[in-house]
Amino acid sequence: MLSSKEYKELEKKYYMQVVNRMPPVLVRGQGTEVFDNEDNSYLDFTAGWAVLNVGHNHPKVTKAIQDQASKILQMSNLFYTTPQLPLAKILIENSDLDRVFFCNSGAEANEGACKVARKWGKQKLNGAFEIITTLNSFHGRTQAMMAATGQPHYQNNWKPLMPGFVNVEYNNLDAIKSAYDKDKTCAVLLEPVQGEGGVNIPSDNYLIEVMNFCHEKNILFMLDEVQTGMGRLGTFFGYQKYSNVEPDVMSLAKALGAGTPLGAFLTKEFCSVLEPGDHGSTFGGNALTTAAGGAAAQVLLDEKLPEIANNNGNYFMDKLNALMNNFSFITEVRGKGLLIGLEMSKDISAEIVSRCLDKGLLINAVRPNMIRFMPPLNVTKNEIDKAVSILDSVLKDM
Ligand SMILES: *Cc1c(COP(=O)(O)O)cnc(C)c1O
Repeated sequence: MLSSKEYKELEKKYYMQVVNRMPPVLVRGQGTEVFDNEDNSYLDFTAGWAVLNVGHNHPKVTKAIQDQASKILQMSNLFYTTPQLPLAKILIENSDLDRVFFCNSGAEANEGACKVARKWGKQKLNGAFEIITTLNSFHGRTQAMMAATGQPHYQNNWKPLMPGFVNVEYNNLDAIKSAYDKDKTCAVLLEPVQGEGGVNIPSDNYLIEVMNFCHEKNILFMLDEVQTGMGRLGTFFGYQKYSNVEPDVMSLAKALGAGTPLGAFLTKEFCSVLEPGDHGSTFGGNALTTAAGGAAAQVLLDEKLPEIANNNGNYFMDKLNALMNNFSFITEVRGKGLLIGLEMSKDISAEIVSRCLDKGLLINAVRPNMIRFMPPLNVTKNEIDKAVSILDSVLKDM
């Protein structure tokens, strides 16, 4: 086996250097813990980037993957296969949406959602094609999703951007109203809580007001639940945190495949406009990934993980709020369920992340002055205590 040093030298040599990796070489995980190649353990409060909601190596998911791998991995969607169905059923029965299309990633799920919106515009709105999205959003890295993602950092080197997207202020209904153009606008696409943008939580009535506005104008109200779905916010889907909110279109990925590459977009019946030939994917709905996703979704239900995420989230937030009393540079703790951010008055998050790593805790510097926590939903209170105590000792040293 390669030493860490050898491994990293080869990585430098062969890979496009598009990310500054953290030092450990990780080889296995169990629950909330991951282990490096020297068998050091870390508490994973990134959960594979809000992906391992059921934890690493959940026995039921692992078994579903093993069983499926021994049967059939992949067939074209021209043929019926069986693993998609149980997952589709769970998604439809636990949401207010009616139909699902499986793809492979969050960006692709949003691309599909936007194709639904554009066809809706062609059919119902005289060719309206523009989609309103928000500043500080994150929707993925394809050409179109860079235009949808309202952050200059993801856009500046790739101009001209794909046409058909306008980015307006988040949590501001008037900004959407003024961007709306009756000849152009076909949809609004929003995250129920902005994840990559810094755990930005809209006011309680923002989503319902946007939804009502969309319905008044006959444009589609689309939610990007790639990060907030599958229990993360303490409800099965993030929008269920907001009463009476129902998206017309919703995208999912990240935790959907429990670590295998799986995305989906769902629509209500009235706007289910895609017909044979309109869309497709070689790997989308792949037997292996949907078997993993089906098992994980069943675990989510059986083990009541959304509810547990809610309780754990409240417990964690209380502990983090208590830290605020000791460290004056912490300005805000905000979150829903187990998507939590801690904001500071100084740009020290990278330093905190690196020092936490040295003490065995993996967290994310989502902004220069903000760290983000997104542990598995079944993280234990004991593990939360441990994480908070590591963070406390790191903050004391700063
Ligand atoms: C991660 C993320 C995406 C992109 O997903 P990929 O699978 O990386 O393409 C899109 N939207 C949101 C809200 C995300 O958090």
